[in-house]
Amino acid sequence: MTTHNIVSVSGGKDSTATLLLAIALEVENLQAVFADTGNEHEQTYEYLDYLERVTRTQIRRVKADFTRQIAGKRRFVETKWREQGVPEEIVLAALEVLQPTGNPFLDLCVWKGRFPSRRAQFCTEELKRNPMLEQVTIPLMGQGDMILSWQGVRTGESLARRYLPECDEVGGGLFNYRPILKWDVATVFEAHRYMGVKPNPLYSQGMGRVGCMPCINCRKDELREIALRFPEVIDRVERWEAVTRQASKQGAATFFAGANAKHPSGSIADLSAAEIVSIANIRQAVEWPKTTRGGVHYDLLAGLADAAACSSAYGLCDSEWEPVRLTEEAA
Ligand code: SF4
Repeated sequence: MTTHNIVSVSGGKDSTATLLLAIALEVENLQAVFADTGNEHEQTYEYLDYLERVTRTQIRRVKADFTRQIAGKRRFVETKWREQGVPEEIVLAALEVLQPTGNPFLDLCVWKGRFPSRRAQFCTEELKRNPMLEQVTIPLMGQGDMILSWQGVRTGESLARRYLPECDEVGGGLFNYRPILKWDVATVFEAHRYMGVKPNPLYSQGMGRVGCMPCINCRKDELREIALRFPEVIDRVERWEAVTRQASKQGAATFFAGANAKHPSGSIADLSAAEIVSIANIRQAVEWPKTTRGGVHYDLLAGLADAAACSSAYGLCDSEWEPVRLTEEAA
């Protein structure tokens, strides 16, 4: 029986370690796949190119396409919104932006007329799970082969992941395989070091995790770092808010749409009722991390951080980086 080993790569440390493990084990029919959300930092795209070079492993890019859904929404706006008596200027404004841009994250928000949130986290399914399934996994199924879907998740990441099995059967020959489930963060970085592969440089720039920038579950301190180091990301989200607002019947859409969900993680979703009222757009969300908990008093030290300094949550710093098995490309 043929086995296909599909490794999901995000450009983050855990999925990279998983890919490195698969390469070290020389598994058969290895396919590394990156689901591009369109909301990634430029350095992540560059890192994927680097990873391909240094590991001599091609990373296939897949992305969701919402052309059909946006066309359906156009028809809905043209007919139902008008029947419902929605003012003509709102209908015309929505039709103006209901055009596919080719950016999956933006197109998803335009189609839905809103941003995803902690309570309605449709982004993971629409932008990552579905393209992987539809474009990579499903075409391999039904041929009597075994498909191992390698996932770089760890029990230490969250409560939800604590009880995941190392392997489970989905059906049709497809299995989820989580080989680094019990690894800690140090082991993950050690795998990079051992294979002579640098981690994504975003870890040395204050990012606790690599994925969408920003993620809708972004932590307060991460948003502060993003605004400080990558102001262009905030500008982009501001433009996306304007477009998505135009596609919304209510004329309202903010990136941190789930800001009313109480959560103990210190994420943007962890806001008091008073703060919810005050956060209507990304600019206001950026102001919020500058305050101490409670959102009222400004943290005077917050504005003093040096944007060029290494503030990795994992103690990484390029100048300290000494790979054990340095390959020609990594040097
Ligand atoms: S990284 Fe965050 S914003 Fe991106 S798909 Fe996942 S949950 Fe959604």
